[in-house]
Amino acid sequence: MATPNKVRPHITQNEALLFELSSPGKIGYQLPDLDVPAVDARQVLGAENVRDEIQGFPEVSEVEVIRHFTRLSTWNYAIDLGLYPLGSCTMKYNPRVNETVARIDGLAWAHPYQPEPLSQGALEVIDALEKALSEITGMDAVTLQPAAGAHGEMTGLLLIHAFLASQGNPRKYILCPDSAHGTNPATAAMIGYEVVNVKSNSRGMVDLDALEKAVTEDTAGLMVTNPNTVGVFERDIQKVAHILHSKGAQIYMDGANMNALVGVTRPGDFGADVMHLNLHKTFSTPHGGGGPGAGAVACKAHLAPFLPTPRLKREDGKLAWEHNLPNSVGKVRAFYGNFGVLIRALAYILAHGGPGLRNATLDAVLNATYLRKKLEAFFDLPLNEPSMHEVVFSHDRQAAQGVRTGDIAKRLIDYGFHPYTTAFPMIVSGAMMIEPTETEPKRELDAFAEALIQIAKEIEEDPKFVLAAPHSTRTSRVDETSAARKPILRWKP
Ligand SMILES: *Cc1c(COP(=O)(O)O)cnc(C)c1O
Repeated sequence: MATPNKVRPHITQNEALLFELSSPGKIGYQLPDLDVPAVDARQVLGAENVRDEIQGFPEVSEVEVIRHFTRLSTWNYAIDLGLYPLGSCTMKYNPRVNETVARIDGLAWAHPYQPEPLSQGALEVIDALEKALSEITGMDAVTLQPAAGAHGEMTGLLLIHAFLASQGNPRKYILCPDSAHGTNPATAAMIGYEVVNVKSNSRGMVDLDALEKAVTEDTAGLMVTNPNTVGVFERDIQKVAHILHSKGAQIYMDGANMNALVGVTRPGDFGADVMHLNLHKTFSTPHGGGGPGAGAVACKAHLAPFLPTPRLKREDGKLAWEHNLPNSVGKVRAFYGNFGVLIRALAYILAHGGPGLRNATLDAVLNATYLRKKLEAFFDLPLNEPSMHEVVFSHDRQAAQGVRTGDIAKRLIDYGFHPYTTAFPMIVSGAMMIEPTETEPKRELDAFAEALIQIAKEIEEDPKFVLAAPHSTRTSRVDETSAARKPILRWKP
């Protein structure tokens, strides 16, 4: 255990619990004597609503409370502090203009039950965002209701199910490549489909022969991520679409990795029938702390009649909600989705404009490629395809010294960086999945690469030291299973 907090209270991470800071009689305020008659709270509020005392509540001064929480806040790693290289998560810096716009009174205080004639501005935001996302994806219609990526997947598969059912048979199987994000097969199972795994070829892409064999008249569709989770663009995607469509099956595209495509190519043009976008990833809403997200779903015209209700319509220039949609799969979310996230996404899109969005994409690919070039002499690169927005290394060279991807990630913490994504995707042995995003300056990329290069050298010289990392944090290595199942939350000096 590091130095106890009695000695260096504001630089160690050994902050006591607020309960442990308590001393009897301390309070956080000081008020002048009453100059009006006192009333008995019991009489005003009702005795049942008034507690005599709160047993064991911490008794602390205001400054102790403020310092306690401020110190705790410095233990958080955040994108506002440095690079956040989690692969497939698109942890980009979120421009402050989005926050400013989301706080405009008329938007921030709008109520979903506010009458439509008084909500025209908010409805215009929703309408403008739907149109922008249609253009970006090359799709015909968009719903903004789903609250996250996985929720978008569910909505998309409901559309496929409803469409196929309207043709007489919803079919039985959804195909998922072995590189798929875990949410894809989970979603398919939730909708009641059986999941069939399709293997990847040696280039990390969907194997066309395996796909051809897997597709039957009972296949409802394929869920494919593009670029996929190894950061590789599925170059045969049009052939993939053709194989599916020739059997009457649909293509669902997981668009979580759209940060590699926006302004360069459009899923609607390469054969996808329906897809989701993670607005909180590609379109820049702070995420990762459990806050709200948005999993907008975009689809082709043949799926549009099934989109969740209500839909926006324009009459005499005014926007209104249409609730009477007999073919709709119904509502998937209260009201109209996470409106605050939608405002940020539209602000981000408008602040960039088309060329700006395209530049962001090109910079995202450039940054990933730059890290790949800096690191490929030190770590194994299992796939030789060009990297898109992320690069996936394997720990194989370091594993020969007994150091695995999770160990390297823990040592990165000592260098002041958030770890990359470890051990996913599963088709890469000991994956180290790194997505820098376009918002990182060269200086930050260099520092990150330098940290990983140093760690590679440390592993050569002293693998045991790396295996015991992190060395600079409040707690070092924990047994991760017990830590999750039997967490000990109280610090004992
Ligand atoms: C993040 C992600 C998802 C899930 O998105 P959530 O918003 O976390 O539900 C799905 N697929 C891929 C490839 C992702 O990266």
